[in-house]
Amino acid sequence: MHTDTATATRFAPRDLPYAYDALAPHISEETLHYHHDKHYAGYVDKLNELLVDSPYAGQPLEDIVLTAEGAVYNNAAQAWNHEFYFDQLSPKPQQAPQGTLLEAIDRSFGSFDEMKTQMSRAAVGLFGSGWVWLAAKPSGELTIVSTPNAGNPLREGLKPLMCIDVWEHAYYVDYRNRRADAVAALWNCIDWKTVAERYAKK
Ligand code: MN
Repeated sequence: MHTDTATATRFAPRDLPYAYDALAPHISEETLHYHHDKHYAGYVDKLNELLVDSPYAGQPLEDIVLTAEGAVYNNAAQAWNHEFYFDQLSPKPQQAPQGTLLEAIDRSFGSFDEMKTQMSRAAVGLFGSGWVWLAAKPSGELTIVSTPNAGNPLREGLKPLMCIDVWEHAYYVDYRNRRADAVAALWNCIDWKTVAERYAKK
């Protein structure tokens, strides 16, 4: 996340970790400009406004996501969720999980393909705006969670590993109403090395 210090009072939007045109044709340059520069940065700006003279000012972003309610929660979680989303994408992704992450996926879902099928179905089926997550339970078992709007599985005591943004702003420029096509394309950009690092992190 963009700050670890307890004294920071403003968050700064983070840059994309790749060029705006790097994920085309799966995600276009135009989508990434809107998604990152307008939507994500807008949540960060709004959060900064809301934090002025707020009891949450100076707290790390994740702590705000864990405890806030209402508009502060919505904007903090949308900032966190988007950083998590953009970070897991790569123009040169490791295209499949390996090692202990693959073992956990096989244990929890039967296979990587089955996990993708279940997560895609959840993403296509989520009504309205929200997020679909691959997350780890404290037991180590993996699960797929759908959260409406600015939901985040940290609130349910789960460790997020990967996410699909199903807000229309994430895909409408490229795919119009074809959310299933957007989800199918996204798999091409998921870097399973990044997901494995999240899984391994205590
Ligand atoms: Mn989004």
